[in-house]
Amino acid sequence: MARVAIVTGGTRGIGEAISLALQDAGAKVAATYAGDDGRAQAFTDRTGIPAYKWDVADPEACAEGVARVEADLGAVDILVNNAGITRDATFLKQSYAQWKAVIDTNLGGCFNMAKAVFPGMRARQWGRIVNIGSINGQAGQYGQVNYAAAKSGIHGFTKALAQEGARAGITVNAIAPGYIDTDMVAAVPEEVLDKIVAKIPVGRLGQAHEIARGVVFLTAEDAGFVTGSTLSINGGQHMY
Ligand code: NDP
Repeated sequence: MARVAIVTGGTRGIGEAISLALQDAGAKVAATYAGDDGRAQAFTDRTGIPAYKWDVADPEACAEGVARVEADLGAVDILVNNAGITRDATFLKQSYAQWKAVIDTNLGGCFNMAKAVFPGMRARQWGRIVNIGSINGQAGQYGQVNYAAAKSGIHGFTKALAQEGARAGITVNAIAPGYIDTDMVAAVPEEVLDKIVAKIPVGRLGQAHEIARGVVFLTAEDAGFVTGSTLSINGGQHMY
């Protein structure tokens, strides 16, 4: 029987590639988004994958949203916590609002969404959760204390939840992408991006489908022994 998957922020960028790859792998996919109705509708028209709007930073909206998906597609087996934002500013200029928005969305969103699906996965003794972290959560990044803290938190969250899910057949893993060619990176000034690309050993930005490939691996039926890991997909930019 087809697995049911939710991909948060699944209507564009890396999330779109993940939604498509999971659909290709045989899953019934629900893609979520925050507010860009036009992009979401175009995505659904193009792919046939339904799009659902809710804010991952809102715990009640997550619980209600998951209930809607389950009513439409069935019990959720796979959760990909991909939704994320940036609100970059150097520490001295960064406001509490910028800090809170990124922590609540990027890290709080993982908590809220896992809360909504974990009990069902546990009851059914099978689940796959993949959290999209970042190279900047591993290595830090100038002007991103909020983002680096949230993404680093995702890596810790992953390892702790993996321990709680292990005996229940639930794997929890993270992917730490390097710089991927999406809207988020298009917002980086060109001169900064040139310097970043110069530091990537493979000499280019990554492509969204290269992250999706990792998600397909981590959510596969035979990936049950892979848990608590962080898969770095970064062109060799950060190795350890
Ligand atoms: P995009 O900005 O292209 O897309 C973000 C997606 O997340 C959109 O679908 C957006 O919805 C959704 N989203 C944003 N905020 C919320 C929210 N509060 N609730 C629900 N959905 C939300 O991002 P990318 O594809 O570039 O990034 C995807 C993930 O990968 C993020 O977690 C990012 O931090 C991470 N990452 C990206 C890297 C890169 O180089 N691009 C590098 C490392 C990590 P809407 O369309 O409605 O705005």
